[in-house]
Amino acid sequence: MLKQDYHIHCELSPDSTAALDVVCSQAYRLGLEEVAFTDHYELIEGVTARGSIRREYLEISREKLLACRSRWEGRIRVVFGIELGQCHKQPEAASQILASNPYDFVLASLHRVAHRDLSLFDYREEDCEALGETYARELLEIARAGDYDCLSHLDLIRRYPAFQGVSLRMEDHMELVEEILKQVVRRGKGIEINTTAGSLAEPLPSLAILKAYRRLGGEIVTTGSDAHRAEDVAKGFDRAEELLREAGFSYAARYKERKPYFVKL
Ligand SMILES: [Zn+2]
Ligand SMILES: [Zn+2]
Repeated sequence: MLKQDYHIHCELSPDSTAALDVVCSQAYRLGLEEVAFTDHYELIEGVTARGSIRREYLEISREKLLACRSRWEGRIRVVFGIELGQCHKQPEAASQILASNPYDFVLASLHRVAHRDLSLFDYREEDCEALGETYARELLEIARAGDYDCLSHLDLIRRYPAFQGVSLRMEDHMELVEEILKQVVRRGKGIEINTTAGSLAEPLPSLAILKAYRRLGGEIVTTGSDAHRAEDVAKGFDRAEELLREAGFSYAARYKERKPYFVKL
């Protein structure tokens, strides 16, 4: 059983109201040993880091997270994480954020292409082939040069079209995907299996991508629910564990002070 959820959003994130202690209680009840809070920080082209999210956000997050960690010590380990969106758009701001906070775990995400959030496209009207390629190229830039520990939800661009009945698969851009995975492996980084709280038929990324990662020498995989509500913690983890095994992994990764270590499945 996977006993760590490495992608959770709480009340500190702009898009969640889940109270820290309620999330920890739920995780403890489920028998988890670790929870990583990875609240959003979006870096958006043309918008200053301070302008995109209020300035005190990171300081408040740090204080509350570290206090929460103390409260739960001995019962569950609270991992201090962040989900940095589009770090390649403002690398200096990203470095500054990472240098001024004692993170255990940094997820790098790509939530936007062509100046728009992926959730805002009408995929029935888009050239999905071109959009998929742009997405892959931007992610490659992050994989190659970004400061991160794991790439989150590698084929996230599959998610929103699926809700609109459109199929957009990163397997159609496998050459670029393999290039991304090679960069991850070369730099000693990892990827995650993101169960999106069970909202998709299959977690992200697909089994084909996980297998390619394994074949290319990838070893580091974390598992995260991407829960924005306490009841979604660890949702879909049975399938995540199956996928890990099917792709040839017998370990999952955890992090401390940005260094990975492994636990047996
Ligand atoms: Zn995300
Ligand atoms: Zn997330």
